[in-house]
Amino acid sequence: MSELFEKIIDNFRISKDEASYLLSNLSTLELGQLATKRKNMIDSSNNVSFVVDTNPNYTNICDTECLFCAFWRKKGHSDSYTLEIDKIIEIVKTSYHNGATTVLLQGGHNPDIKLDYYLEIINRVQKEIPGIHLHAFSAPEVASIAKYSDLDTKKILKLFWDSGLRTIPGGGAEVLTNNIRKKISPLKINADEWMKITEEAHQIGFKTTATMMFGHAEKDEDIIEHLDKIRDLQDRTKNFLSFIPWTFKPENTFMENKISAEIGGDRYLRVLGLCRIFLDNFKYIQGSWFTQGFKVGGVSLHYGANDVGGTLLQENVLKSANNPYKAGIDEIVHVIKSEGFKPIQRDTFYNKIKDY
Ligand code: SF4
Repeated sequence: MSELFEKIIDNFRISKDEASYLLSNLSTLELGQLATKRKNMIDSSNNVSFVVDTNPNYTNICDTECLFCAFWRKKGHSDSYTLEIDKIIEIVKTSYHNGATTVLLQGGHNPDIKLDYYLEIINRVQKEIPGIHLHAFSAPEVASIAKYSDLDTKKILKLFWDSGLRTIPGGGAEVLTNNIRKKISPLKINADEWMKITEEAHQIGFKTTATMMFGHAEKDEDIIEHLDKIRDLQDRTKNFLSFIPWTFKPENTFMENKISAEIGGDRYLRVLGLCRIFLDNFKYIQGSWFTQGFKVGGVSLHYGANDVGGTLLQENVLKSANNPYKAGIDEIVHVIKSEGFKPIQRDTFYNKIKDY
């Protein structure tokens, strides 16, 4: 045990077996202490960043029907919608005037939406609201757009790049092992495809984030496998901007009655701490006030998180699962300061915009 502690404190990479040992045997407090030491080796500042963003969803019609998702609707359902491009532009304009610098745009896999729709959004946001950065279309959306356009994913990514898109959200990763994906999202792209599309994006030049949604069917070994795949790709491309672990919200999903309880703060913090210790090639790891609330979100800053993500001015996916958490800049700044850190407003590329 002390040898492993020394290895971590001396900034050496840990193996999957060592990660498994840490998650099974360390106290939550010990994981937090080691995660904080690792964080300080990568980022010695006292800064904790956040972004002012909005997260509209262009459609909730989706043919992928993930069992963990409360957001999707079948085509023709009374609640189903697809936003006109003019409406998306109006939402982005309003968010920009309310201070947003990033629009995180994602949606369901809707076979009726044509490729031109996505390209026009990319073009019009840049032309009509040049002060805002479009961070859009996760790997599973790229796969779906490719499928319904009869093109390959690399071609779609290239068309997005040539239209001016520069960053892609790391959504749809959930847990990157195929046995878990079969249980929670059997119709979605598998782990290998998610990795392939993300690597294609990195090769073209896109920066992306990486996410992990846990607290459903996975075991420790699935989490560690996920982290290992992400660490390996980051070694090769260095184009992940940050890692964003967050927890499953079961309400209103098909899995609601299949899990005994929503994941609590202790398990969340343990996994977050492990992410920081394992992912020695990530500068930014995000704490999740959004799924864990402000109290645990604040504590996450003592478990290796040095970013708290976005204000999410407009968000629908977790709202569909009755997620109660919402925040403005004042609340985020207050949480960061009350934990003893310095709040920094950042852009999508993690460049500083403003001190608080
Ligand atoms: S998570 Fe995404 S792909 Fe899965 S059902 Fe929901 S909207 Fe569709």
